[in-house]
Amino acid sequence: MKQFDLEEERIKQEIIKLGAKRVLIQLPEGLKPEAPYLSKIVEKTGALPIVSADPCYGACDLASADAEALGVDLIIHYGHSKMLKYERVPTIYVEARATLNVEDVVEKALPMLEKWRKIGLTTTVQHVQTLDIVREMLLRAGKIVAIGDAGRLNYAGQVVGCDYSNAKSIAEGVEAFLFIGGGRFHALGVALATSKPTIAADPYEKRVFSVNEEAEKIVKQRWASIQEGERAKSFAVLVGLKPGQRKLEEALMIKEKLEDKGKTTCLLAVKEISPEILMEFPSVDAFVNTACPRVSIDDSSRFKKPLLTINEALVVVGELSWEELCRKGWFEN
Ligand code: SF4
Repeated sequence: MKQFDLEEERIKQEIIKLGAKRVLIQLPEGLKPEAPYLSKIVEKTGALPIVSADPCYGACDLASADAEALGVDLIIHYGHSKMLKYERVPTIYVEARATLNVEDVVEKALPMLEKWRKIGLTTTVQHVQTLDIVREMLLRAGKIVAIGDAGRLNYAGQVVGCDYSNAKSIAEGVEAFLFIGGGRFHALGVALATSKPTIAADPYEKRVFSVNEEAEKIVKQRWASIQEGERAKSFAVLVGLKPGQRKLEEALMIKEKLEDKGKTTCLLAVKEISPEILMEFPSVDAFVNTACPRVSIDDSSRFKKPLLTINEALVVVGELSWEELCRKGWFEN
């Protein structure tokens, strides 16, 4: 059995229902190995499958322009829930829910949660279907459980790399968070967004760990970047070209505020933010990233110069205090 539900029957039926002749399949990195298998599934409907080989880290990155360039009449976007309100090309989202059982790893997490009674529960879209089971397990262990639904995301308890509103909405009433999902980043995001102890339960690696020390290190590193930003004379404000990362108005607002503070500032449009791309601009002392905040927080050690988020840039220009930034968070603005 596959680790993720690829919803093969649903995609075949949708292709037939919509009469799609040419289909662009977009896959996150972990699902790219399924490209040949999914192409065969699409071919069975009589449609032509084309797989996007470009990186895809979120539903912000819908390949609408590529689909239009290729004359595609349907995008099948795997691994994320819908984010954009309007799609230029008809799009089916396949959230790729994990088929793994999470009970073992939650059982392992219980001793690490021992010192807290009120627990907030968060996860990514791949595991939202497990939250009822996890809640029951925590209740049986004598915990009080809260699952946030701030209404911005598709599911209660869901977090995405740049939106922790569900966790923040319940943070005041809980003592710690339990995050269900793979990797460290989303759990770190919960800890950074809420300043609460956060335990990650990873059902893929069957591992349970605290992310608090790492979150503290990141906070110190962000403070150092802001101080470097304050000393910087020349800035570039990055404008994302991916549909859900395009924040031109915010970029213009930051540019104006930096210039009011006497900093020289230019705008750079960018699809993928990488150290190699930014190294092409050696006269720039610091960058402001209005595109994907995850790149600033998760990958900061790869960059030689400060790569500030919008809220951090507001601290540099004196519009936000460090304390307000810590309350507001690094991700949402
Ligand atoms: S964290 Fe970045 S890649 Fe993920 S959804 Fe947000 S903008 Fe997109």
